Amino acid sequence: MKKLFSVDELYKLYEKYNSLYFDNKLPKPYEVTIEWSNRLSSSAGVCYRRAKIIRLSTAYHIKYPEEVGATLLHEMIHLKIKGHGHDFKRELRRIQSLGGKVYRYSKETAKAPRWKYSCKKCDAVIKKYKRYPKNIICGRCRGEFEEVYIGD
Ligand SMILES: [Zn+2]
Ligand SMILES: [Zn+2]
Repeated sequence: MKKLFSVDELYKLYEKYNSLYFDNKLPKPYEVTIEWSNRLSSSAGVCYRRAKIIRLSTAYHIKYPEEVGATLLHEMIHLKIKGHGHDFKRELRRIQSLGGKVYRYSKETAKAPRWKYSCKKCDAVIKKYKRYPKNIICGRCRGEFEEVYIGD
């Protein structure tokens, strides 16, 4: 398993992204707090815009170590923009066009899945943290899914 970035490295990355993608217009590294969180499990990262705090989920990035940069960059956008609406999308595209690796949503929440869906016709199995709306059908064979709760 790849070692997670140290907090120092996160700050260096922050500085680099600020210069590469934000023309150094985001707060200076010493003005922000960037930290790992062992408790954050509902998302890959979180940004408290007013307090200028960025937290990255340890659990999520142990699973997806290659996503550290993308999560940091995503949360950096939130220092300027609240939510994932139109402005966020435009900023995302701007950064992506400069070569930045950043997404609107992380791959999944770091939480363990609570729902399992097995297709009744083929062998497709999907696990989700959030429950699917009713009556979803298998993307592979259009079969019906059987829903099982596997959470604690
Ligand atoms: Zn976000
Ligand atoms: Zn199926």
